[in-house]
Amino acid sequence: MTPEEEREARMAFVMSLRRNGVRDRAVLDAIEAVPREAFLDGIFKARALEDIPLPISCGQTISQPSVVGLMTQALDLNPRCKVLEVGAGSGYQAAVLAKLARRVYTIERHRPLSRQARAALAAIGADNVTVITGDGTSGLPEQSPFDRIIVTAAAEDPPQVLIDQLRVGGVIVIPVGQSDTVQHLIKGVKTEDGMEYTELGDVRFVPLLEGVADDLADG
Ligand code: SAH
Repeated sequence: MTPEEEREARMAFVMSLRRNGVRDRAVLDAIEAVPREAFLDGIFKARALEDIPLPISCGQTISQPSVVGLMTQALDLNPRCKVLEVGAGSGYQAAVLAKLARRVYTIERHRPLSRQARAALAAIGADNVTVITGDGTSGLPEQSPFDRIIVTAAAEDPPQVLIDQLRVGGVIVIPVGQSDTVQHLIKGVKTEDGMEYTELGDVRFVPLLEGVADDLADG
């Protein structure tokens, strides 16, 4: 890409975020500050500024940037927040969260992905993120309660185990639905009396699966 093409690609990228409803200035700044190509492999690096999901290792996908933006915006982050992400994938969403929160824990069930995510986050200097290999459906009890929880894989319902690890006043954002082609993005706020849910629109995510994947690579 020439510098001129690069500038145009950047402008189109930001316009696509805005067109898709990402309006929060701090969230837009965070997304612009994270180099998405650092979380992609090979030929896909060149497509980092396209507002589409792209393939990563282990048959998974890095999310569409405008969906990363919408989910991050819905979380209402502040610099004191301790955040749990389930579904680290490439680590890209965690890198965006890390710009806006104090501490981010992210869990991934595929070991090769968690290793790659850890390396990419270190390479961009995101030193307030911890990547854990494990089953995120159990959450991370030793670090709970969390101020915010984001699940970037689709569940049939918001898992009660995760809601139990959310602080009162905290927010969870999760795609829910039985279909694997379209799910509803849900925001839940935890109150003294229970959960208050609002629906944010339709999204498409890979499924939230139980257990750690049987990957051959270790680490
Ligand atoms: N947030 C990622 C994209 C997520 S793709 C990014 O920014 O790149 C969804 C990820 O959730 C996949 O990598 C998948 O392996 C992972 N996943 C699915 N079920 C899981 C579980 N129970 N625990 C941890 N990770 C899970």
